[in-house]
Order: sequence, then structure tokens, then C-alpha cells
Amino acid sequence: RAKAQGKGRHVLFEASMEAEVLDRLELEADLLRAVERHEIAVHYQPVIALDGETLAGFEVLARWNHPTRGLVPPPHFIPLAEDNGSIVALGRQVLRTACAQAVRWIDAFPSEERRIMSVNLSGRQLEDPGIVADVAGALADSGLPADALVLEITETVLMQDTEATIERLSALKALGVRLAVDDFGTGYSSLRYLRRFPIDILKMAKPFVDGLVDADDPDGRALARAIVDLAASLNLSCIAEGIEVGAQAEALRALGCGMGQGFHFARPMAPGDLEALLGDAGAARTFRTPAWLG
Ligand code: C2E
Ligand code: MG
Ligand code: MG
Ligand code: MG
Repeated sequence: RAKAQGKGRHVLFEASMEAEVLDRLELEADLLRAVERHEIAVHYQPVIALDGETLAGFEVLARWNHPTRGLVPPPHFIPLAEDNGSIVALGRQVLRTACAQAVRWIDAFPSEERRIMSVNLSGRQLEDPGIVADVAGALADSGLPADALVLEITETVLMQDTEATIERLSALKALGVRLAVDDFGTGYSSLRYLRRFPIDILKMAKPFVDGLVDADDPDGRALARAIVDLAASLNLSCIAEGIEVGAQAEALRALGCGMGQGFHFARPMAPGDLEALLGDAGAARTFRTPAWLG
């Protein structure tokens, strides 16, 4: 009897594994098709200069609206795109769209300071020898000044610390773009790579921002301060990620963190929605100007 039961369980287990594998294969095929058809959309999240709360720029974030499953979050589809290689084409589309959008917003909402457009690059894109030509092409075709473009690379990718990565990053840097370490502080790595790579910006990962207002975490403030001070002493800019409440923004500003982004200021938004917000605020008649729109 026990044997029969065991076998039944085994069959059940196999069936659910098979369903999972099929599901993943189907999603992967759908993703390939969506990339081929240029169906991956993008949202933009404002990046805010914390001192004065003015608009410093945007981060572009990929969005996949699956025809039957609805919105698939990036942490689900980006790894699939990395596995099947479609991240290279997807990343190129996001990059070109973001550069063209940045030029239109620079013209429509002029400011004295140069605003940044920040684009996430996956490790897989960095391994692709075509990446330097892709970035150069996106800049040339859009007319975006190179120093307005920030390329974000996660700390875990930088930790791999290979000669090829250094060469690739140096070639990108030579185009005049700026390089950011995304999710800084989550990799528990040695900090050696900060000296090896031509980095300009540290993006403080959300857990450190959360720790700022966590009463149960007395060391939270010290860790955030250490990251801000590290950035300053290496002459890097610091952008805090995932600011959800005003007290975090205030604490970061007090620590000397230059920029931040998060739901407290604005969520990632479709370009039309963001434009409406910026436009209404600019007209400043029926709409109270958000503090961050300088
Ligand atoms: P990331 O680059 O660290 O982007 C920040 C993520 O935090 C975004 O999630 C954003 O929506 C979210 N976020 C922003 N403010 C807040 C906040 O106040 N609270 C909370 N809880 N979350 C906040 P999203 O859009 O789901 O993207 C997740 C990750 O997927 C990104 O993390 C990035 O690593 C990756 N990703 C997104 N778009 C692309 C892309 O075009 N290319 C590549 N290679 N990766 C991408
Ligand atoms: Mg990012
Ligand atoms: Mg991040
Ligand atoms: Mg991330």
C-alpha cells in the first residue's frame, strides 16, 4: 500500500514539474515573439535631486503586458530574456526608446541642469561585443548628449571582475556616458571593483533606505551614512533607491545623499502620464507644482 502511495506521489510530482517546465517554455516563446514585434513597453521613474527636490532625470524600466497573463513583472521576464538571449534585442530597444524620449523631454521641459536618462544593462548585454556600437548608435541617432546617459550595472555583475568587463566598461565610458552601480550594498562583495571599474554613481539599494526609518534597526542609519560617505570620498554621486516616505528623503538629504527615487516622489509611469504630470505642473494653474519639479 505504501508503495502504491509513493508511486502516486511520484507521478503527481512529475506532472506538476512538467506543467511548470511547459509554462516556462511557453512564456519564453511568447517573450521572444514580443521582443521581435517590439511589444515591450517602457515606464519612466523620476529621479529627484534631494536638496530642493527638483527633477534630476529618469530611470527607464521595461514593462511586458502579456496578451493573456497581463503585466509580467521584470524580475520574472528579464531572467528569461537573459536565458534565451533576447535581452540583447530587448535592451537595444529600451536604450533607443529612452534616448529618443530623453531628447524630446529635454526640449519640452528645459532646465539649466542637464537631466539624466538612466538605463539598466544586464550582464548578458555587457558580454555582447555589439554593446558599444549599440550605445554609440542610440546616442548618434537620437542626438542625446552622451553625458546625459547613465548605464546601470548591478553590483553582482561587476563582482565578476573580469578583464573583458573592464575593457567593455572602459569602451562605454570613452563614449562619454556615465556608469552606475545598481543595487549597491546587496552583493556583500569586496569593494575592490570600485577601483577597478570607471564608475561614476552608486545607487544605494532599497534595504538601506528602509533601514533609515526602521526603529528595530539601530544600525540602519550608520549603514546608509557609510554608503553616502563612501560615495563622497571616492568622488561618486549617490542615488538612493526605493524612497517610500518623506522621513527617508529627509534623512538621506541630511546625510548628504544627492539624489533619490521612489514611490514617495513618483512611481514609474507610462510616458504619456508622466508628460501630463510634468506639463500640468509646468502650467501650474489648476495643478499644484510638485516640489520636485524645479
Ligand atoms: P532596478 O533597476 O533596481 O529598478 C528599481 C525597481 O524598484 C523597479 O522595479 C521600480 O519599479 C522599483 N521601485 C522604484 N521605487 C520604488 C519604491 O519606492 N518602492 C518599491 N517597493 N519599489 C520601487 P521593476 O520596474 O519591477 O524592475 C525590477 C528590476 O528589473 C530592475 O531593478 C532591474 O534590475 C530590472 N529591469 C527593469 N527594466 C529593465 C531593463 O530594461 N533592462 C534590464 N537589463 N533590466 C531591467
Ligand atoms: Mg536600475
Ligand atoms: Mg536598483
Ligand atoms: Mg535590481
